[in-house]
Amino acid sequence: MPVTLVWFRHDLRLADHAPLRAAVKRGAVVPVFLWSPEEYGDWPPGGAAKVYLHYALQSLDESLRNIGSRLIVRRGAAAEHLKQIAETTGADAVYAHRLYEPALARRDDKLEARLALDGIDLKLYDGYLLHDPEQIATGSGDPYKVFSPFWKKFCKQIEVGKPLPAPRKLDGPGNWPHTSSVGDLGLLPQRDWDQPIADAWPTSEADVTRRMKWFVGRADDYGRLRDRPDGDHTSRLSPALRFGLLSPRSIWRAVAEGMARDADWKTDGRAAYLREVGWREFAYHLLHHFPHTPGQPLYSKFDGFPWHGDDEKLRAWQRGRTGYPIVDAGIRQLWRTGWMHNRVRMIAASFLTKDLLIDWRAGAAWFWDTLVDADLANNTLGWQWAAGCGADAQPFFRIFNPHSQAAKFDPNGDYARQWIPELETGDYPEPIVDHARVRQTALEAYEKIRNA
Ligand SMILES: Cc1cc2nc3c(=O)[nH]c(=O)nc-3n(C[C@H](O)[C@H](O)[C@H](O)COP(=O)(O)OP(=O)(O)OC[C@H]3O[C@@H](n4cnc5c(N)ncnc54)[C@H](O)[C@@H]3O)c2cc1C
Repeated sequence: MPVTLVWFRHDLRLADHAPLRAAVKRGAVVPVFLWSPEEYGDWPPGGAAKVYLHYALQSLDESLRNIGSRLIVRRGAAAEHLKQIAETTGADAVYAHRLYEPALARRDDKLEARLALDGIDLKLYDGYLLHDPEQIATGSGDPYKVFSPFWKKFCKQIEVGKPLPAPRKLDGPGNWPHTSSVGDLGLLPQRDWDQPIADAWPTSEADVTRRMKWFVGRADDYGRLRDRPDGDHTSRLSPALRFGLLSPRSIWRAVAEGMARDADWKTDGRAAYLREVGWREFAYHLLHHFPHTPGQPLYSKFDGFPWHGDDEKLRAWQRGRTGYPIVDAGIRQLWRTGWMHNRVRMIAASFLTKDLLIDWRAGAAWFWDTLVDADLANNTLGWQWAAGCGADAQPFFRIFNPHSQAAKFDPNGDYARQWIPELETGDYPEPIVDHARVRQTALEAYEKIRNA
């Protein structure tokens, strides 16, 4: 019976898993996870994401054991381990989902050629996204840089099919290779800060599926309430999407199936949700076509922007001590739970780049290390948008006012009080900058760039 390695990467699930399904059809299956942080280039998973990954891997191993299999876990260079595992088990093929992070996509290209020399066929399947970034282009064949026309084309061109069922049983190889334990990968931190993050998140496929079903029951209200951080109004499925405990197809279909046939896509609550999933598609479209953007502005005229390298202010922002409650509440929510509400991410990012004039890359790096859903495409898009140097840029002259944003989206201050207990006791810092004054400085800096 042919033996296939199924290489789990950012797809830690059994349902809607095309490589797994194809391998099961073919014969025996060896599920593999390789921890190779050096192969992620400048962006190996950060601290909070690694905590989530640790528990998600344990859950995946448990799910595999329930269907007669197990997860083979190794640390080190992917090429070496894949070759070795194939040799031990007699496998002649490796099946996996395609990845789009530039360093990983390049690694996979090289790997395909290397494994072929040993007679091992590496086959990559679509499934991390709903569209292939090469599939959608402007009339002149270029990639999109603006969301609205991208989304219009996406909706016209992309059919989201039915998710595949999870296999009920897996046949194993005659000879199982040795495995490390998930604990041996060293994903959990040495210092003990991870428990609240672990407690805040469901990390098994069954639990995130339950969360999805719960959310689907409330999705009609999403369009109306999604901007309010003072309640549980969004799906909070971002880490599940990032690590693939759910496929975007499963989420899309579950939400879309509850939509009225004659729903107006401009106002429907569920359509508003699908549009956000569309932003994830757009973020990957950009990352694929403009692989320099995690480190450089999409538009090069921003290369010379006069950012202030003020370490003290950066530290105040990172600690949630800027004296602006909506910003500080977001940063503290992030630190405690590994997640921040989208509206507050926008406010906190705008504050860092426009009120403190600190380089967006410092903010992106902080988010990268502290978010459980840290995602190279979405994080890059979010930060470049906030700084005004990326696709669909929030124009630089439109500067979020943290006071009016708070009044609009956290009108009773419940969110701020939840994360900043000192607001009650009076031991809270004065604002580190005067918004009205720094706004002017930011606008002047922008004018220089615009006229350069
Ligand atoms: C500065 C900044 C940095 C960000 N960094 C990340 C990041 O590292 N990882 C990440 O997943 N998202 C990031 N986002 C986007 C967004 O804030 C999160 O996806 C969202 O808050 C996750 O919560 P949710 O699952 O409840 O979202 P929901 O509102 O329930 O949305 C559903 C899904 O759609 C996708 N989505 C929603 N909003 C966006 C968006 N603006 N851009 C791209 N995809 C989106 C996510 O996958 C999300 O899980 C960032 C936004 C900003 C402004």
